[in-house]
Amino acid sequence: MLNIVLFGPPGAGKGTQAEKLISKYNLNHISTGEVIRQEIKNGSKLGESIKDYIQKGELAPDSLVIEMVANFVKNNSDCAGNIFDGFPRTTHQAEKFDEIMKTNSLDVDVMLSLEVPDDSLVERLLLRGKDSGRADDSSEEVIRNRIAIYKEQTAIVANFYEAQGKHISVNGLGTIDEIFSRLCAEIDKLK
Ligand code: ADP
Repeated sequence: MLNIVLFGPPGAGKGTQAEKLISKYNLNHISTGEVIRQEIKNGSKLGESIKDYIQKGELAPDSLVIEMVANFVKNNSDCAGNIFDGFPRTTHQAEKFDEIMKTNSLDVDVMLSLEVPDDSLVERLLLRGKDSGRADDSSEEVIRNRIAIYKEQTAIVANFYEAQGKHISVNGLGTIDEIFSRLCAEIDKLK
């Protein structure tokens, strides 16, 4: 079973690449951001409690996202593999994630990290905001805050996987297909 953490700053292209990887390698996919947006849309109690954080571009509380992922892993342990997109985003989440995987007799194989310079991120997100209507993509201030939070709290998660020899950086600039080929080349080396 192939368990991939797809990593990178907001706007790095994780969602786009995840979609292509899922169909090529027949994987399940969890995007914690997607799950959160769905909860907010449904007006659930969980959604209500997270809404304010998302609108400001801040991270949702660790305990809530950890629970989401724990449920997902428990229900998807019998498949070809999983892509974790947007998780773990803090070192605490990464530590808890290790425990969740162990409990289910699973392990993360690799963290693939998409590298994209800040200016390209802002440009991509503002463009996405126009099409998707995502509130957190329409204000440059919120976008810059998300990038700042990524640098403060999330970028260090790469060190956690680096220490386990599982972190691979991938150039996230180029066409969607070029980036996809780079990711596939890394995944195929694992087999
Ligand atoms: P992006 O990577 O473009 O910011 P996501 O869809 O991954 O978009 O996440 C959107 C928002 O959802 C984040 O800005 C954050 O507020 C929240 N979120 C998603 N995943 C997590 C996580 N693992 N921990 C905390 N907050 C999260």
